[in-house]
Amino acid sequence: MDQNQRRVHILHGVAASAGIAIGNAVLLDTKKIERYPKIRITKELIEDEVNRFYNAVEISKKQISNAKKQLEAQHVIKEHIFILETHLMMLSDPSLINRVKQLITDDYINAEWALKISLQEIEKDFDPIGDEYIKSRVADTTFVGERLLRNLIGKKTDGFHMLENSVVVAHDLSPADTAMLNKEKVLGFATDVGGLTSHTSIIAHSLEIPAVVGLENASSCINPGDKLIVDGISGIIIVNPSDSQISEYEKRARSYFSFELKLKERSKLPAITKDGRYVKVKGNLEFKDEIKTVLDHGAEGIGLYRTEFLYLNRNDIPHEEDHFQAYKTVVETVSPYNTVIRTLDLGGDKFYSSLGELKNEMNPVMGLRAIRLCLKEIDIFKTQLRGILRASHYGNTSIMFPMISGMEELSKAKDILEETKNDLRKKGIPFDEGISVGIMVEVPSAATIADMLASDVDFFSIGTNDLIQYALAIDRGNEYVNYLYEPLHPAVLRLIKFTIDSAHNVGIPVSMCGEMAGREIYTPILLGMGIDILSTNAFAISHVKEMARRINLEQCQAITEHIFTMKTAKEIYDFMNREIMEHAPDIFGLTRA
Ligand code: PEP
Ligand code: MG
Repeated sequence: MDQNQRRVHILHGVAASAGIAIGNAVLLDTKKIERYPKIRITKELIEDEVNRFYNAVEISKKQISNAKKQLEAQHVIKEHIFILETHLMMLSDPSLINRVKQLITDDYINAEWALKISLQEIEKDFDPIGDEYIKSRVADTTFVGERLLRNLIGKKTDGFHMLENSVVVAHDLSPADTAMLNKEKVLGFATDVGGLTSHTSIIAHSLEIPAVVGLENASSCINPGDKLIVDGISGIIIVNPSDSQISEYEKRARSYFSFELKLKERSKLPAITKDGRYVKVKGNLEFKDEIKTVLDHGAEGIGLYRTEFLYLNRNDIPHEEDHFQAYKTVVETVSPYNTVIRTLDLGGDKFYSSLGELKNEMNPVMGLRAIRLCLKEIDIFKTQLRGILRASHYGNTSIMFPMISGMEELSKAKDILEETKNDLRKKGIPFDEGISVGIMVEVPSAATIADMLASDVDFFSIGTNDLIQYALAIDRGNEYVNYLYEPLHPAVLRLIKFTIDSAHNVGIPVSMCGEMAGREIYTPILLGMGIDILSTNAFAISHVKEMARRINLEQCQAITEHIFTMKTAKEIYDFMNREIMEHAPDIFGLTRA
C-alpha cells in the first residue's frame, strides 16, 4: 500500500510492558493452522505415518533446544528458559506421543489429523480450570502442538528475518518464537491475544521491551511496514501516526527513558515518605531463578514466594528434597531479608495426575483449591511443610497459608504444621523454632473476620487479586467483565481497611502481595490505611518506592478518610488521579495504569 493511502488509527489493548517504541511493523505468522490435511490411510501406511510424526517430534525438539541455547547465551531471566524446558518435556510426554500413535494405528488417519484430535482432547481438559496462571499455561500445549503441526506440514517455523527498528506484530508469541528474533532490532511487541500473565508479557518484561497485548485483531489490520507507535504505558498502538504524533511520542519516549534510569539508580535505596515513615517494599517470586532480578530491582525480601511451579508439568508429587532445595536456595540468597513461602495454591490441576479426581470440578476457583486441597491431601501438605521448615534453618523464613476462609481451617492447618514440627524435632532435624506463620487474606469471609483471625497468626498478607474477584464476583481472567474488576470499589477498600485495623489492634503487621500493591496510584491510599509492607513484581518495585518518597503520611491519611466518603470506584479514581497529578506528575503522567 502507498504510504499516502495509509490511515492513522489507534488500537487499544492491555499495557503489558511499559515504555514507548516507534518502529516499523513486521508481521509474524504465528496464527493457528486451521487448514491441514485430513486423510484416511491404509494399514500399510501406518508405520510410515507414525515415523513421519516421530520425525516431526525430533525436528521440534531440535528447534526448541536451539532456541533455549540462544536464550541461555543472552542471559535473560530463566523464566522463559523454564517454559522452553516445559515444551521439551511435553514433546517427550508419552501420553501425547502414544495418543497420536494410537489414533493413527487404530483409526487409520494421517498424523496431522491424529495430532489435532489429541491436542483438542488436552485443551478440553483445561477448560474447567479457572486459575489464571494455569489457564495461561494452556498456551504451552497450543504452542507445542502448532510447532509439531507446522513441522508435519512442512511450514517454515525456524527463524524470522528482522529489519532495523522492528515492531513485532503477531497473533501470539511463544518463548521459542521470541528466542528466534534478533533482539537488537526489535523495539516492541503487539499481539492479538494475551493478558498480563501471558508469555509475551513475561518476555517483554524481562527483555524490557514495550508491549501491548490483547489487541484482538492487530495482526489482521496492521500491514507489514506500517509505521507503529507502541505505547506500553497506556496500552495503545498508533498505526501510521502523523508527524506531530511521532514527535510528541519521541519526546515522551526520551522522558520515559531518563525517568526509568533515575528510578533504577534509586531502586536499592529505602522508600521513606516526606514525613519520615519507612515503607518496606518486597518482591513476589514465582521461580527461584528470578531471585537475582527481584533483588536487583530493590526488593527488601520476598513477600510472596508462589510454590506452584514445583507441582506443575510432572506426573508425580514433588519430594521433600525438591521442596527443600528450591526453598533453601531462595532463603539463603535473600537472607538476612525475610522470605514468605506460600504453601500450595493449586486445585483442579490437570498437570497433576495424582489429583486426577479433581479434574472435573464445575467451578474450580471456588472448589478444592489451595489450603482446602492441602487439608484433604495431608501427606502432600506435610511433605511441603517439612521442606519449608528445613529450609528455615538456613535463613529468615515465614510460612503463609493461602485461601484461608475461617478459623477452623486455620487451626487445622496450624495443627498439621505443629505435627510436622514435632516429627522433625523427634528426628533431630533443625529448623527455625521461631518461624512466623501468617495467612493470605484473599477470601471475603477472612477479611470480614480478620479481627478473629488476627489473634491466631503472626501476620496477614492481603491477596487483592483473589479478594477483588471474590468480593465483586468478577472472574479475574474474564475479558467480558474486566471493566467491573475495580480495586477502588468501596466494598474492596472497606475489606482492606478492616483487615489492616484488625491486625494492628493485636499488633501484627500487614503486607499486600496482590497486583494492587504494585500500582503506584494506590500507594497513597494503602499507606493512608496503614499497610506495613508492599510486595510486588520486580519491575514495579522502583515505581512504588518512588511514589512513597513523594508523599506525606499525614496527607495520605487525609486522602483515605476523604475517599471513604465516596460511593463509586470512578469517583475515587478521578480524585486520586487529580491528587497524584498534583504531587507526582512525573511518575503518574508516565506510568498511568
Ligand atoms: C492474590 O490473590 O492476590 C495473590 C497474590 O495470589 P495469586 O495471584 O497467586 O492467587
Ligand atoms: Mg490468590
